[in-house]
Amino acid sequence: MRLSKAFIPTQKETPAEAEILSHRLMLRAGMIKPHAAGIYSYLPLGWRTLRKIEGIIREEMDRIGGQEFLLPVLSKRDIWEKTGRWQQAGELMFRLKDRKGADLCLAPTHEEIFAAIAAGQIRSYRDMPQIWYQIQTKFRDEPRPRSGLLRGRQFLMKDSYSFDVDVGGLDQSYRLHREVYQRILKRCGLDFFTVRASSGIMGGSESEEFMVLSSAGEDKAVLCKSCGYAANLEVSTSKAPAYPCETEEVKKVYTPGKKTIEEVSGYLHVPPQRLMKSLLMISQKGPVMVLIRGDHQLNETKAQQVFGCEFRPAEPEEVLKLTGAQAGFIGPVGLEGIEIIADLALKGARGLITGANEDDHHLTGLEPGRDFKVDRYTDLRTVLPGDLCPECTSPLDISSAIEVGHIFKLGTKYSEALGATFLDADGEHRPIIMGSYGIGLERIMVSAIEQHADKDGIVWPITIAPYQVHILPLNFEHEEVRRLSERYYDVLIGRRFEVLMDDRNLRAGTKFKDADLIGIPVRVTIGERTLKEGKIEIRLRKTGKVYKVDKNDAADKIAAVVERLSAEMH
Ligand code: ATP
Ligand code: MG
Repeated sequence: MRLSKAFIPTQKETPAEAEILSHRLMLRAGMIKPHAAGIYSYLPLGWRTLRKIEGIIREEMDRIGGQEFLLPVLSKRDIWEKTGRWQQAGELMFRLKDRKGADLCLAPTHEEIFAAIAAGQIRSYRDMPQIWYQIQTKFRDEPRPRSGLLRGRQFLMKDSYSFDVDVGGLDQSYRLHREVYQRILKRCGLDFFTVRASSGIMGGSESEEFMVLSSAGEDKAVLCKSCGYAANLEVSTSKAPAYPCETEEVKKVYTPGKKTIEEVSGYLHVPPQRLMKSLLMISQKGPVMVLIRGDHQLNETKAQQVFGCEFRPAEPEEVLKLTGAQAGFIGPVGLEGIEIIADLALKGARGLITGANEDDHHLTGLEPGRDFKVDRYTDLRTVLPGDLCPECTSPLDISSAIEVGHIFKLGTKYSEALGATFLDADGEHRPIIMGSYGIGLERIMVSAIEQHADKDGIVWPITIAPYQVHILPLNFEHEEVRRLSERYYDVLIGRRFEVLMDDRNLRAGTKFKDADLIGIPVRVTIGERTLKEGKIEIRLRKTGKVYKVDKNDAADKIAAVVERLSAEMH
């Protein structure tokens, strides 16, 4: 492609709306154009990179026997009703009606539709295993679309689904996907790691996420440097350092208007570790009191697991009715008929302070078991930096990361709901065992930029660069410069390399700036000065390394550099 003819609208200014580096660079390099919150047009340069990523994913999926489909985006309500996700997906799902008034959605994911195809067609254990995939646009009305393409409301995902006869088969399909994801991310030039994850609204047992460390990431990964333990903060466990306390007598103290942990600990001159948060929740099964140490936070994902059903904080009137006090002054002592669940860090604690179920009063010196009953101890808190690793008890780190992929063992939730059963070898009907595996194309692109960019612009790994070679004639008016540039342009394209040539009549400085910004890995600079020595320059964007090569005999050298860079990524 000749830059004089290309639509690559680069810009010097940093766009004000862009919060993260990759977003700024993609806008400045003319790769994308915003349309609405979380919705973008991909301009030619951006689309070329996404297509490269798509190609790598397709090759790797085909290699494990994946079969490519293309399912509809418009999806009818009834199959989502069958799995309960029409309700469960809530406002995340874009919904619409057709002219006859029938409900449709823009699919946020495709478990239901793939399972429905399996339900009609996979009949016998002999028809499995199967791995089905597609690379397609997903729609999610994300509550806070921001950070550019990192959290779009319309985005590209490769989603695949495995169908197996038994748990052993599922294990194998899951393992294949884990390996495939590792190969895909390696070929895309990403430094990544995997963490244990939550299954969210997917349901199912085991799940792992593929993460890329980045300050732009919206996820938090809990990592142990000593033993390699790694988990998403949503599900990570830890050992909280115990807070030592003496046995005390229970006392009621006057705490006028002091409701929050800070207020009470300030007023009573005690550290927050001595306090206990008493949280009243209303679940579908009834009211539950949740107890957490004062310096800890309730982890929503864990609470969801523990409750096993929908729950919400009690309304002020409900709190008053059930405890006789306002929120901030409530506690477990003397509560009848309400289940009490406590976080593990409270087991064996002494001298605790919490509400007295009487406005403006707290109780001090409390001990679980002695002064109030606990129906169940379980892990309910969010890990804090400095907590101890659950496996080796070294201190844990918490780092921001981008989730690029997620693999799940689904089990039979979808096959049962949609009637996807098969006849096993004994002639019995059984539900198909499913797995589901997603990887985000934009997230890979964003992560690659975040991970490799420098102060001058993007630094593409060669496998996903929009072009491999950037020919940069310093002065296109100069006869020999132009002749050689045209020659290498033709020769390299003839050899099926992807080449961009800056044939514009612009100052060399401007061309260098654009080249750095766009980030093509191999630059071939052709200028009068080096031509006088009989040379042209090959320069690597990533390292700045320069090779001076014979001006008349550079094609093989350029080809060899591109091939070496590509080979390094396999
Ligand atoms: P998140 O936790 O970031 O919201 P998720 O867990 O809902 O993502 P999955 O349903 O597991 O995402 O989707 C599989 C993959 O699709 C993710 O690993 C990610 O790469 C990509 N993805 C999900 N949501 C978005 C989005 N809003 N924009 C871009 N990519 C996304
Ligand atoms: Mg996920």
